[in-house]
Amino acid sequence: MNVSVIGIGYVGLVTGVSLAQFGHKVICVGRNKDKVRNMNQGLPPFYEPNLTLLLKSVLKKKRFQATTDLEKSLLKSDITIIAVGTPTVAGRIDLSQIKEVAKQVGTALKDKKSYHLVAIRSTVVPNTTEKVVKPILEKYSKKRAGEFGLCMNPEFLREGNAVEDALNPDRIVIGQYDIKSGKTFALLYKNVKTTLLFTNLQTAEMTKYAANALLATLISFSNEIARISEKVKDVDVLDVWRGVHLDKRLTPIHGKRRIKPGILSYILSGCGYGGSCFPKDTKALISFANEMGEKASLIRSVDSINKTQPQRIIFLLKSAIGKNLKNKKIAVLGLAFKPNTDDLRESPALSVIDELLLAGVQVICHDPRAYKERIPPELSSMPVVLVKTVQEAVKNTDAAIIITAWEEYAKLTPKFFKKHMRHPIIIDGRRIYDKSRFLSNGLIYKGIGYSGV
Ligand code: NAD
Repeated sequence: MNVSVIGIGYVGLVTGVSLAQFGHKVICVGRNKDKVRNMNQGLPPFYEPNLTLLLKSVLKKKRFQATTDLEKSLLKSDITIIAVGTPTVAGRIDLSQIKEVAKQVGTALKDKKSYHLVAIRSTVVPNTTEKVVKPILEKYSKKRAGEFGLCMNPEFLREGNAVEDALNPDRIVIGQYDIKSGKTFALLYKNVKTTLLFTNLQTAEMTKYAANALLATLISFSNEIARISEKVKDVDVLDVWRGVHLDKRLTPIHGKRRIKPGILSYILSGCGYGGSCFPKDTKALISFANEMGEKASLIRSVDSINKTQPQRIIFLLKSAIGKNLKNKKIAVLGLAFKPNTDDLRESPALSVIDELLLAGVQVICHDPRAYKERIPPELSSMPVVLVKTVQEAVKNTDAAIIITAWEEYAKLTPKFFKKHMRHPIIIDGRRIYDKSRFLSNGLIYKGIGYSGV
């Protein structure tokens, strides 16, 4: 099929290249001419494992191109997927990008003679597709829904794993305005082994929020248990989770083997979730629930625990170094909100750095992906030093804080830290190190869920 995808962010570009890999002809539409030109030369605007390889491959097969011309892309395609941003502004979903694109798509649809399907892949609160997008499309196309197709198809990819997730989707939820819309959208996945779930538009929208809120809830729950554990002598939350994970409903036993499902990685404690989804989507869900007359107290707590979780790092740091942090030199290892991405949006690193700077700390930052050539915009106004190697980062520091569980950091040894740091104090925000090994080698080690009281 011929597909146009509007938005060349994480979702739009990964959707575009994966659909091209499935055999469709894809045109991705962006606004930035430089980014579009680079993409046509095989250079994605952000880092995602295997994305460059796949982009180059579909370009070579002539199944993919990028453009800034939305109207032409629409006229040349059968399906348009909208994957623009839906940030949360002042605690509420901001639909301005969606509305703007719906207007442009509607206007282009006016001149389209054949049937065209529009699918929303951005995360939007329930009723958006039916009550916001549909009327705009109808107004500007001068057609009724049904003359054109309409779907809501939430995206479940995980940054850092996006290409793999898009090529092997665990589910395709198709919220359909009518049967024809759903059937047309399903053609995109005709040759893909996955489960297609057909729903109405609102259910598809709600499914995405429920999925994200569930994962965010598990994380905040795990962090609340960590906070309590930190206060109890000789309790390490890592041991607690080992015991909890052995529940055979979490790790089923098949023959002699225990299966370790991916959900376990959400029932672990750390310095909080970040990224472009969980923080904004939980907030948007709370405000949507409130508009519907529901308090959403659980999700409100999930959000509030997460907001304050990075402060636990400062609490652990002070318990190791003393209350006065002024003029201390501290390394922050990891800026991205999780490994295998260069995305800093809502990363706990930003809150931790903020607190350190407020306390008068000299902050040295390192991240293997987020800082290569250019200073990430999120840090541009922060008086921190960015360095390119871990060694430079920890050199002569008074403490090192692990924020992102990069494999590169997990490999570092007690010997390495002792050799380069002024005071070998490690605050492990992701629990990537073997506590006993660090303690027995004479380092001061504290981590989320283990304060060593
Ligand atoms: P993003 O900010 O990385 O990308 C959005 C892109 O849309 C930007 O490049 C922006 O320039 C572009 N855009 C906006 N208006 C446009 C227009 N009129 N014409 C062309 N391009 C336009 O966002 P993202 O992370 O890709 O997320 C997109 C949507 O998918 C959001 O609703 C998000 O919640 C959802 N989502 C994201 C993820 C994720 O992991 N990033 C996962 C699932 C769902």
